[in-house]
Amino acid sequence: MSNPRTVVIVGGGISGLATAFAIQEQAAAAGLSIRCTVLESGSSWGGKIVTHRVGDLVAEAGPDSFLSQKPAGLELCAKLGLTNQLINTNETGKKAFVLHGGRLHELPEGLVSFVPKQLGPFLRSGLLSWIGLARMGLDVVVPRGSSQGDESLASFFRRRFGSQAFDRVLEPLMAGIYAGDAEQMSLKATFPRFLELEQQYGSIIRGMMAAKKKQPPAPASGSPRTMFVSLRNGLGDLVTALTTRLTQQGVELRVGCQVDALRVRSHQPGRWKYDLILNDGSALSTESVVLATPAYVSAELLRPLTPIAGGLLEMIPYASTATVAMSYPANAVASAVEGFGFIVPRKEGRDLIAATWTSLKWPHRAPADQVLVRCYLGGVGREAILQLDDDQLVARVRAELSALCGIKAEPTYVEVNRWWKAMPQYTLGHLDRLTQLDAALSRYGGLVLTGAGYRGVGIPDCIRDGAIAAGQVVRYLSGQRTSL
Ligand SMILES: Cc1cc2nc3c(=O)[nH]c(=O)nc-3n(C[C@H](O)[C@H](O)[C@H](O)COP(=O)(O)OP(=O)(O)OC[C@H]3O[C@@H](n4cnc5c(N)ncnc54)[C@H](O)[C@@H]3O)c2cc1C
Repeated sequence: MSNPRTVVIVGGGISGLATAFAIQEQAAAAGLSIRCTVLESGSSWGGKIVTHRVGDLVAEAGPDSFLSQKPAGLELCAKLGLTNQLINTNETGKKAFVLHGGRLHELPEGLVSFVPKQLGPFLRSGLLSWIGLARMGLDVVVPRGSSQGDESLASFFRRRFGSQAFDRVLEPLMAGIYAGDAEQMSLKATFPRFLELEQQYGSIIRGMMAAKKKQPPAPASGSPRTMFVSLRNGLGDLVTALTTRLTQQGVELRVGCQVDALRVRSHQPGRWKYDLILNDGSALSTESVVLATPAYVSAELLRPLTPIAGGLLEMIPYASTATVAMSYPANAVASAVEGFGFIVPRKEGRDLIAATWTSLKWPHRAPADQVLVRCYLGGVGREAILQLDDDQLVARVRAELSALCGIKAEPTYVEVNRWWKAMPQYTLGHLDRLTQLDAALSRYGGLVLTGAGYRGVGIPDCIRDGAIAAGQVVRYLSGQRTSL
């Protein structure tokens, strides 16, 4: 029997682990024997996915859910036998609020989905003036922009819906996901669907209404998924299930193993050998390398091979954020919290970006007599607050919750998580940079990049991109040509 081909994946976040899983799956389908190793510099697996279970509390330090509309997350859960652990959001309390003028206003559904239903709730919400609403409606007549070039999120939505709707609702909803600055974010790289709707229908409102008509009716029985789903005991179970399965499949998983350098050992056409230099000074040889590390780490690893790729990767900025989770006795905050939580527009100039009433949004997050709350801070242009120590940060968050929602009670549990350089920013020109990156890496056989820094930050995006990276590795190791 011939020796197995070899691949090393650097980075044990969801991207690296999903890539390893997909390599096993695709290699088996291709009848190829591959020895796969995953190296993680930290002391645990999962990267940004970190679930803390404290007594009966389930506190997510990083992501708390994923989009069900993008199939890769649900599909991976099914393959890992986790489908029966999936939970929906609590639809009974499905309301969200936005801060405007120092007061929380309910977000009318039609305002978020761009499918106007009734004007009443819009007007009663007090969020937009008559003029603001009328300007939003002008979307149906505002001419199409150019499909060429790259437009910022802020420019696109102000052009289509006016400044009021953008500043008060769309900015915190859309830029907030990335902890980003909408003036710098590329529409094409973050929300390309809106550009497609504009090009196809000449209007977002008309496009969304047409899409809604085409939607198949919701199944009468079964358990339709809510827009976001999670796992009953936290997303950490996805990481545990993945690492357990990979170990069973013979994948070598090594934590506490940092890759300090990447070198080409030898190459002939179609047959490359790489050396990965580890933090203990040893070298690991392999035919294929997947870098599933943040772009700024991959930049340093690739710079000696290709300074162009190093330079392009370095141009992907990352924002730092913090989450502060607090648990309160339910009777001390009962009337202050309602719905899933609230978002804060940048224009409001507050410390918070958003707050989630975690135990109202999700089942199984806290015992009935407690309310678990999670607040988000930091992001592009607002990172200075992360310099505060934990006590100061918690004091600032408590002052915000007191001013905005009247929560004055003492929390019974507090947890601060800082996420330094954690959220990749797809700024103007991002997609062009990815094309140039592909070109710069095209001569290195079997060398592949994946991760949140490139084609989507959400968990399903990372899983899907990992499967694409796996396909490139398996085709390369099978001796077929790939674009990389
Ligand atoms: C606070 C927060 C909340 C979020 N909420 C959501 C959410 O609700 N839903 C959602 O879908 N997404 C959410 N996201 C985004 C999502 O969690 C991330 O984009 C995704 O988990 C990134 O996965 P990754 O594997 O690409 O990167 P990472 O998780 O960063 O993994 C990269 C790994 O590489 C390792 N590494 C780095 N350098 C080296 C080296 N030299 N050698 C070896 N290993 C190395 C790191 O230790 C890390 O484990 C959130 C992110 C944050 C920060």
